[in-house]
Order: sequence, then structure tokens, then C-alpha cells
Amino acid sequence: MAKKLSNKKETSSSRAPVVVVLGHVDHGKSSLLEAIRDFRITSKESGGITQHIGAYEVEMENNKTITFIDTPGHEAFSAMRARGTNVADVALLVVDSAQSVQPQTKEAINVIKRCQIPMIVVLNKIDKPEADPEKIKRELSKIDIFVESMGGTVPSVNVSAKEKTGIPELLEMILLIAEMQELKSEVDCSVEGLIIESYMDSAKGPIATAIVTRGTLKIKDIIATDLAMGKVRSLANFQGKQIAQALPSQPTVILGFEKVPAVGEKFKCFNSVEEAQEKIKREENKREINVNIINPDPDKKIINIILKGDVFGSLEAIEGVLKNLPQEKIILRILKSEVGDINESDVKLAEMSKAQIIGFRVKISPTVLAMMRKDSDNPDKKVRIKTFEIIYELIQEVRNGMEKSLDSEIIKKDVGKIKALVLFWAEKNRQIVGGKIQDGEIKRGLRLEVLRDNVKIGNGKIVELQRDKKVVEKLVKGDECGILFEGNVKIEKNDILSAFIEERRKSEL
Ligand code: GDP
Repeated sequence: MAKKLSNKKETSSSRAPVVVVLGHVDHGKSSLLEAIRDFRITSKESGGITQHIGAYEVEMENNKTITFIDTPGHEAFSAMRARGTNVADVALLVVDSAQSVQPQTKEAINVIKRCQIPMIVVLNKIDKPEADPEKIKRELSKIDIFVESMGGTVPSVNVSAKEKTGIPELLEMILLIAEMQELKSEVDCSVEGLIIESYMDSAKGPIATAIVTRGTLKIKDIIATDLAMGKVRSLANFQGKQIAQALPSQPTVILGFEKVPAVGEKFKCFNSVEEAQEKIKREENKREINVNIINPDPDKKIINIILKGDVFGSLEAIEGVLKNLPQEKIILRILKSEVGDINESDVKLAEMSKAQIIGFRVKISPTVLAMMRKDSDNPDKKVRIKTFEIIYELIQEVRNGMEKSLDSEIIKKDVGKIKALVLFWAEKNRQIVGGKIQDGEIKRGLRLEVLRDNVKIGNGKIVELQRDKKVVEKLVKGDECGILFEGNVKIEKNDILSAFIEERRKSEL
């Protein structure tokens, strides 16, 4: 009997590549995104796009589309990296061909490598007379990026974002790479995607731009990220047109979240509101457990910090150094390390976990500044926030904080002894005692241990010190003295009052 063939429906279909543009500041990322948008869209759509939603699609002549993430400074991509999520399939590394490879170029390369997505080197500003793309290629080869024309595997395209040249070649190259990747996605399955932009609209409520990664998102779907849920009220494409459903790789504006979801968060669809609520509850619990309970070594103190930085490179450098600080005596725990300004959710996490917030080349959001002012005299709510411009200073601050919170060793030092000879007067916990200094130097205010037959029976302090009925500050060995003693014991003749000081010895990590 012939084997029956599977009649399972083919549910996966090819999807558009999602492209992110990275590179050094001013090398032309925004101009390039603009040039691409103008090139493919304004020619077709009258009026073009008026609204930026964090991503847009271009449609090629062969009906193939490409999705570009165009959030300012490509924050979405950074936020995704911070969360370990990624929606991009291809990265464009923009380098100013009239300049040279810059620190952020290298950083972008590292990020792309870590995401394990293919890249295209875009040599921009080719219109400039001083442009020298070959020089850039040589520079890139020195940092192990070998472009095709130099015998390597990384494609490169010369463009001018200003004069809009080289754009069709670039788009073709993206499609070619996408084809090689055979990007596929199931459409008939549970829905998943990523939030790439979000904000609160005073009239419409939370608004999120998302890219679906699998399945088909529809109106009325119950949707939830780790911390925000809702029911999809409306979907719009990047041109603001209402759509009934969003397919994989298609950027879409979602209305219906109950609170603003975080950029870079994954979302899923659920069968019921209850299921979504349960998931949120689980995530919240997980967070609390992570923050409050897990202490791998209960004997050690923990310092929690929340790290915010301008770019991944600096965050990674800082984390690297912090993790290498000695932690034998105290544990330094980085609860969160994220690119971006210090915001409300950082403060909430800090409050919940008694963490301090450390920022590197970031600003403190106005809401947080307002919160800080409001809570400035409420020590319970006060969260320590410090920002730095220099990595070394940041590290030093964290190190000092760790050292300060170590139980510094307290060392007791004996400074002198008085033998009690006469008892003049006593009242409650006070006594006037006459005696002789046997040893050392005695000062007013010193703390005392009371010894009887060499056994400690109590303690107190010297409230006042007298000699010949005159108040003095200090007496030395051999002097007779009168002291006003305050303590928890009644002194008797021949008791030894041993004066001491305590010194704190700074503990080192
Ligand atoms: P970004 O910081 O990487 O987004 O860079 P921008 O897109 O803001 O560009 C930085 C500057 O370079 C702007 O003044 C642009 O007008 C200019 N620029 C961008 N692309 C080109 C180009 O292809 N040719 C020339 N001549 N200037 C360009």
C-alpha cells in the first residue's frame, strides 16, 4: 500500500527582510533612511509619509518589500539588544567615505557580529570630492571586515544619500541577501512580535509600533508583552492606513494596550484575557523574585545597581570592569543594564530592589527629576541616582560605595585607666567618683569599661572631668581626678575604669 502523503497545509511563507541602519554619528544614517524612503515611496504614494512610526516598508518593482527600522538613533535596535531580542535580518553599516572608520563604526560592527546577522557596508557621501571608499575598505580590513571587492564576503555599496545615488543597488543587495537567508515565517500559528516604538498618547492611550515575527496579528487579539497587555483595538500600517491584520515583518501601529509596553519587548497573543493576565502576573513575580530573593550567598551583603548608558559599547566596558571588582566580601549585582536615559521604570525597580541608579553619559528624564524633588525629604523613597561622564569616575564611585557598605572593622583601643578611690554622690545612672589615673591619658567624653577584680561589670562614660574642683579637659597618669560618671553600674571603691576609644578601620574589597 502506498504511503499516504502528509496532508499538512504549508503554512510558512517568505517574508520581507527587516533592516536596521547603524554607524557613526553624522555618517548619514538618517539621510540614507530618508533617501530610501523618498526613492520608493513618495513616487507611489501621493504626499508620502507624514508620520514616522519607527519603521517603514518599501515596495520594490517585483512586489518584494523591505522593512526598515528608522527610530531615532536606532534606539529600537539598542533596546532589543539590551533585552536579548532582535527583529532585524540585515544590518547596514553606514560609513562616511570622505571620513574614516570611527569608534561608533567599530561599535556598530561588534553589535552586528553579536546579533549574527549579515551586514552590508554602505559607503556614503560618495558625492564629496574627497570621498575615498577604497581607503575606508582598507581601514575596515584592519578590523577584520573584508568587503567583496577586496576578496572578502561582506558586500559594499557606494551611495550618496544626498544625491540619492546608489540607492537602487543597495536595495537590490538587501533583497539578494534576504533571498540567501530564505526568510520564512509561519502565518497560521500563534502570534509573536516585537515592540519597536511606544508612547502614551493623551487622546488615544498607549500606542505601540510593532513588527510581527510570526503569525498574523488581528484586531481583537489579546496581546501581552512581559508587563503590558491589552486587546487590539485597531491596527494601522506605516502610512497610517487602517488594516485588518498584520503579517510577519510588517510594521504596524497597535492601539489597545492598557499601558505602554517597553521598546524591545516581545509580545504574544493569548486565547483569553485571563491567560494574558496570568502571564503578566508570572512575569511580575519573576521580577520580584529576581530582585528580592535570590542571594547566592546569604552571608554576604549585596549592592544592587541599575546601569544606564549612552551606547552598548560603554555599557559593556563598564559592566566588564564592575564584574571584575573583588566580590569576596560583598556582591555587586547589576539588575539591569540598558541604553537610554534614566526613566520612571528604572526608579520603580530601584525602589523595589533598594538599588542605586548609575548613569553614564545619559540624562535623567524630567519625570524622574520631578519625582526626586517630590521625594527629596522622604528617605524611604529616596533612590540614589548618579550620572557620570568618565568611566573611571563611575567605577570609583561604585567601588567606594561597596567599601562603605562593608562592615568596617571596629578596633577598640585602651587609652587610660582610673582607679576609683572615693564615691561622692550617686543618682540614678550618674555618680561622682574620685580617683587616680593609673595609666595613659584621660579626657572628658571618653567611654569607660568598669572592671571589678579584673572582670567587666558594666560601662559608661566620663560626662565631666575635674581636678581640684575645676573642670578640665584632660589629665594624665599620676593625676588625681574627679569624674562625673554616667553608666549602667554602681562604681565601688577599687574598681578600675578603663577608658577606650573605637576606631573604624576602612575595609577594603
Ligand atoms: P546620522 O547622524 O548618521 O543620522 O547622519 P545624518 O543623516 O544626520 O547626516 C549627517 C550630515 O551629513 C548631514 O549634514 C547630512 O546632510 C550630511 N550627509 C548625509 N549624507 C550625505 C551625502 O551622501 N553626501 C553629503 N555631501 N552629505 C551627506
